[in-house]
Amino acid sequence: MKFRHIIFTFFISLLISSSGFAQRTIIHAGTLIDGVSDEARSEVSIIVEDNKIIAVENGYVSGNRNDEVVDLKSKTVMPGLIDLHVHLESETSPQKYLEPFTFDDADKAFRSVQYAKRTLMAGFTTVRELGGSGVNIALRDAIKGGFVDGPRIITVGKSLATTGGHADPTNGWKKDLMGSPDPIDGVLNGVAEAREAVRQRYKNGADHIKITATGGVLSVAKSGDAPQFFMDELTAIVETANEYGMHVAAHAHGAEGMKRAVEAGVRTIEHGTKMTPEVMDLMIEKGTYYVPTISAGKWVAEKAKVDGYYPELVVPKALEIGPMIQNTFADAYKRGVKIAFGTDAGVFPHGLNGKEFKYMTEVGMPAMEAIQSATMTAATVLGMEAEIGSIETGKLADIFATDKNPLEDVTTMERVSFVMKDGVIYK
Ligand SMILES: [Zn+2]
Repeated sequence: MKFRHIIFTFFISLLISSSGFAQRTIIHAGTLIDGVSDEARSEVSIIVEDNKIIAVENGYVSGNRNDEVVDLKSKTVMPGLIDLHVHLESETSPQKYLEPFTFDDADKAFRSVQYAKRTLMAGFTTVRELGGSGVNIALRDAIKGGFVDGPRIITVGKSLATTGGHADPTNGWKKDLMGSPDPIDGVLNGVAEAREAVRQRYKNGADHIKITATGGVLSVAKSGDAPQFFMDELTAIVETANEYGMHVAAHAHGAEGMKRAVEAGVRTIEHGTKMTPEVMDLMIEKGTYYVPTISAGKWVAEKAKVDGYYPELVVPKALEIGPMIQNTFADAYKRGVKIAFGTDAGVFPHGLNGKEFKYMTEVGMPAMEAIQSATMTAATVLGMEAEIGSIETGKLADIFATDKNPLEDVTTMERVSFVMKDGVIYK
C-alpha cells in the first residue's frame, strides 16, 4: 500500500515537474480540530505537498487536475495522535514472563512490526517508546527507512534501574541466571554508573532516558512504590542526559520517589499513582508533565483477578495500584498539573490506545483538552512542537479522522477511519 503510493507519487511528480505543477493532496475536512485552537472549525481544506501541510484554507478548495482530493466531508479531522508511553516490543499475555527465556531479539522484532502497524492504524502517528530490550531502536530506524509501517518512534531504548529495581531485567530469576547486570544492561548503582548507563543509552542510539524511580506493578519484586534511586544518582542521570539533549521520563508510583525525580528535573512522571498534593505543587512549580496511563491501571486491575494471569508477587500490587490511577489523574488535573497523553500500550493490547480518551473525560477533562494533551502538548514534551502536534502550515502531514465528532462522542477516538503519516495515506 505504502510502496505503491510512493511509486505513484514518484511518477506523478516526474510527470508534473516538467509541467510546473507539484503533486498535492487536498483533504476536505467536514470538521477540523487543529490541536491548538479551542474551537472546532467546519468545512476546511488541508493542502499537503510531499510530507508537509502547505496551507489550511476555509471552504472546500478544488485545486488543479493533478491534485488528489480526499473527501472527509462527513468526518472529524485531527492532527496525528502522540502516545508518550508505549512498549512496542511486547504485549500482555499470561506467557509473557517466560519470554526472556524463549525469545531472541528477532522474535521480539517480528512481533513489534505488527504492534507498530496496529498503533499507526489507531491514529497514533508518533509514539515515545519507554523501554524494552533495545530492539525498538532498530524498529524506529526500520520505520524511518520505510521498511516497516508504523508510527514515528522516539525511544529510550532500555529503561534504567538500580539493582533489583523495576527495570532490572533479571528480577525473580534463579541466582545462576540472575548474574549481576550492569550499566550496559541498564542497571546502575551510584553516580559514576548513573553517568555510564546514560552514556551507554546515547551510544546505543536512544533519543531520551527512562528511569524506574520507584518499584512497579509488573516486575517480580515485592514493593510497587518504594523509592529506588538516591538524589545524587537522579541528579547525575538528569544532568548527563541533558548534556546530550535528552530528557528523562520517570516511572513512579510512590510519592517519595516521585518527589525526588521531580526535584532532580525529570521531564515527565509516568503513572504517578500515589501523587500527593505536595508532589503536584512541586510539579507545577518545576513545569513537570504528568503522563497518567489510566488504561494500564484499568487493565492490570482487571487481569489480576484472572487466576494465573500474573505471577503471585504481582497480583496484590496490580489490585492495589491499578484502580488508583484514574482518581490521581482527576486530582492532578483539577490542581493544575500539566497533563500529557500516554497509555502504557503493551501492558494492554496495542491499538487500543484510544480508550484513554474515554478514561480521561469520564473524570472531568473536557474532550478538547484530552485531544490537545495527545497532540500539541505531547509534541511540546518531545520538543517537536515545530514539526508535529497540530494541523498548521509548515507542519508534517500527520493527520487522522474519525466518523463522529469526538467532542460529542469521545469513544469515536477508538475507531479511526483515516490515517496519513508524513503525507502518505495508510488507511
Ligand atoms: Zn510502561
